[in-house]
Amino acid sequence: MEYTWDMDRLCKYETQIKRFMASNKHLKKEIKIELQMSLQNIRYMKSLFYNSPNTMSIFKQWKMNSIQKLVKVAFQNNEKIPTDLIDMAMKSASSFMEYDACDFNQSLPRCNFSNQELVDMSEDFFRWIGHPSYLEKFSKYTDPKNHLLQFVKKDDLYYSGITMPLFYPNPGLWILINRENTLLDFFTLNHECAHAIMSSEETAGYDQTEHFFLKELEGYYFEFLTSQYLKEKLDKKTVIQLETQNFFNFYLNFNRFYITQLALYMYQKKRAVSSFSIQKFIMMKGLPFEINETELYNALLKNPNEDVRYIVSYFVNLELENIYKEDPEKSFWQFENIRKSKLNSIDEILKANGITNLEQTSQLSLQKKIEWLNENNE
Ligand SMILES: [Zn+2]
Repeated sequence: MEYTWDMDRLCKYETQIKRFMASNKHLKKEIKIELQMSLQNIRYMKSLFYNSPNTMSIFKQWKMNSIQKLVKVAFQNNEKIPTDLIDMAMKSASSFMEYDACDFNQSLPRCNFSNQELVDMSEDFFRWIGHPSYLEKFSKYTDPKNHLLQFVKKDDLYYSGITMPLFYPNPGLWILINRENTLLDFFTLNHECAHAIMSSEETAGYDQTEHFFLKELEGYYFEFLTSQYLKEKLDKKTVIQLETQNFFNFYLNFNRFYITQLALYMYQKKRAVSSFSIQKFIMMKGLPFEINETELYNALLKNPNEDVRYIVSYFVNLELENIYKEDPEKSFWQFENIRKSKLNSIDEILKANGITNLEQTSQLSLQKKIEWLNENNE
């Protein structure tokens, strides 16, 4: 049995959605958005499957646009993010002053696990977690007969894994893993499976609340659990290497977020943005972030929403990591509580779970984490 998406089913869905939209002209706005999103996702999934150069050509098209045009779009998207979240993230930038950014990716041990071996490893991991309902859902998504999981190996994709939601005609999630043949593939699979497992309990309209900014929590938390699991199986050095690489990936996210926010700030003040003036500002502050023309393009091409989502989720995850050191069960229970909370604002959700000042605690936790990485990588 191969791990591939079921293209016949996707094409059938596409026709059904189009037909449904054509025969129902007066749909509610939310439903229309979900239908359009499903169509968009199917199209993207088809382009990935048939290897068409779609993604690259879109990128080239964007590159034709000037930075000033891109920054304008980013500015509009940025306005939808709660200001206190951006403030909180910006304030934590100084924690990176001590950070010695280092990309270990090339030196990570190669492992040529087959896709089947990788899924078997993940199955063992989900069994180790000891949560029967999670294992059951994991099996549903990874059973090759269901064709919801696809492995690829593409150098031109900017991500290692993605979970695509379809709302109609059958709600569900489709997982893609972009293999790089290191142990990070194991982290990626567990991360995406965490999305699939946790998201199936969601109701429509979830994305309209601040929950959106906590959506990566499950991904990060399960990556953290993965390294705890690996501590029982591998030598300490390898686990530290993997954790270091994962932190570096988060650092890249933060770097991009910081650059975007500076670009937006300059756009607001002077309507003129350049990579040179951003780099000058960064150096004046003594921060390690780096920028060049391509970096600035990449930063602006991404919706700022996404970066903020990763950063807020990462900070909350750091709190759960700290709790885990004292009491693993409590940490897991709090994670589930946060993820399933029906409260609207992040502040309320965290307060209900004993995390009262995310801004302060996350800065401290970030500093500690960086110190720990520096010590262990000497
Ligand atoms: Zn994710």
